[in-house]
Amino acid sequence: MSQVDGRYAPSPSGTLHLGNLRTALLAWLFARSQQSGFHLRIEDLDPQRSHVEHERTALADLRTLGLDWDGEPLRQSLRRERHRNAFAELRAGGHVYPCWCTRADVRNSSSAPHADAPPGVYPGTCQRLSRRERAERERSGRPVAWRLDGAGRSATFRDLLRGERSAVVDDFVLWRGDDLPAYNLAVVVDDADQGIRQVVRGDDLLETTPRQVLLAQLLELPVPRYAHVPLVLGPDGKRLAKRHGAVTLAERLAGGQLVEEVVGWLAATSGLAPSGASLRAAELLEDFDPTRISTAPTSFA
Ligand code: GLU
Repeated sequence: MSQVDGRYAPSPSGTLHLGNLRTALLAWLFARSQQSGFHLRIEDLDPQRSHVEHERTALADLRTLGLDWDGEPLRQSLRRERHRNAFAELRAGGHVYPCWCTRADVRNSSSAPHADAPPGVYPGTCQRLSRRERAERERSGRPVAWRLDGAGRSATFRDLLRGERSAVVDDFVLWRGDDLPAYNLAVVVDDADQGIRQVVRGDDLLETTPRQVLLAQLLELPVPRYAHVPLVLGPDGKRLAKRHGAVTLAERLAGGQLVEEVVGWLAATSGLAPSGASLRAAELLEDFDPTRISTAPTSFA
């Protein structure tokens, strides 16, 4: 059987909720059911939003669920130089341009770059500046971000659960105005460097995946396989959050549930166990069948 190392990459901006834990369980099952490596990466790129106590709780929660991983978790914030080098490579290849637009500028612009571009896509304003306009912006002291010149290219990939996906890649930000690498750049470089061949993650990231596929191609890095798994939503249909009640492992356990019941719920709501199941993560390994994973979101009630 071929080895397809997988990973789970939490952002330590809050306590993991049942939706995050379910994604972690599924990513672990995909990898370990094939005797493949499984790695963790702490996505702490943004120092304002990352807290070390969330990181500690995340690792403890994953262990409590019975998940294991190889080696030490990779801390994304320590890889700034690698991210910078990848950015420099794209810049040297002529795939990058500076942008001074604020979010409001982008929101308020009316012209989309391509007829089939989704709303909110960057219209390419800063790519078309005259020399004078550019000099003005350079003098303005406004923070400069760097965008990929998508050049209307599209990227295609086959999602293991969602089938073939293809999209025109927009001019997304590679390097942020606050001098931090953007998520899409960091994730592509880090997945490649960690030897990740299978990315299992929440399907809120399905739409950004074509960007990552194109980036991997431009940087001549291997494109991993993808499986985007459904989210757990609150009763209001919004992404699960604190306000929805006992959504963390600690809260479930404090409410009297056993770890096995929590794992059972995560498995049952994914389509991998009967409802009301109570089991350990390792018990799911043997007959793990990804085709049974439902693609509809789960509602947390
Ligand atoms: N760090 C991201 C999150 O917690 C996940 C990124 C990814 O899996 O590519 O939502």
